Amino acid sequence: MVRIMSAFVLIWLSFSAQSLELQGTLTQGSLIRGQLEPGAQLRLNDEPIRVTAEGKFVLGFGRKAALEQRLTIIGADGKMREENIQLSPREYKIQRIEGIAKRIMKPDPDNVARAQADAKRTRAARARFEQQTSWQQSFIWPLKGPITGVYGSQRFYNGEPRSPHYGVDVAAPTGTTVVAPADGVITLVGDLFYSGGTVIIDHGFGVSSTFLHLSKMLVTEGQQVKQGDIVAEVGATGRVTGPHLDWRMNWFKQRVDPALLVPPMAR
Ligand SMILES: [Zn+2]
Repeated sequence: MVRIMSAFVLIWLSFSAQSLELQGTLTQGSLIRGQLEPGAQLRLNDEPIRVTAEGKFVLGFGRKAALEQRLTIIGADGKMREENIQLSPREYKIQRIEGIAKRIMKPDPDNVARAQADAKRTRAARARFEQQTSWQQSFIWPLKGPITGVYGSQRFYNGEPRSPHYGVDVAAPTGTTVVAPADGVITLVGDLFYSGGTVIIDHGFGVSSTFLHLSKMLVTEGQQVKQGDIVAEVGATGRVTGPHLDWRMNWFKQRVDPALLVPPMAR
């Protein structure tokens, strides 16, 4: 049985005591939350996935994730079964950005070293495993404003191809407050070469939000925040052409699209 609930696709498979429920958009770049019978274990393409005592779990599929994904479920009774998930492919936009400063386009060796150290720091923050289960909440937009960049776009800076854009950009004046989209713990606060003022909020089980280009960071590492708490202010720091918030979401290394987790932007 397949039920469609608002923007979410819900799949419910029931075999006596066995069940698998998936919540989310079954597409590339999606965070999928799920429910198994309590006591069951889960593997995704043979990799063990943490499941809460109540049978809840979360998975993230990257921008170019394989369309066929294999779940192996080991029930509380020890019986193993397989379920395949079919993801729909996405088409990504091409975005051309001009007017990026030479300092940023061709960074000198000191800045290259700085950017590499920054990347190591963000990778470490996103690789953490936090026990909290705030990823189960309904996420909210961290601020309101026009969306000026979307997840997955292939980008050209001053005509040169660069890595895709993984966040959703919301334009707002410098100083506009940014709130936590869900509860979490702050795992990184820093001034990074490309992303400028940066904050990472860990929502648990590998799910994190990253905010880039901030003018002010109003939290400290290790601080626990609640959904709706003010954490920062919009800015134009790092590789940008104007003030905006770039909101990124990860499931460990996999980059997922925040826009799939929130209602359409209401203006
Ligand atoms: Zn951006």
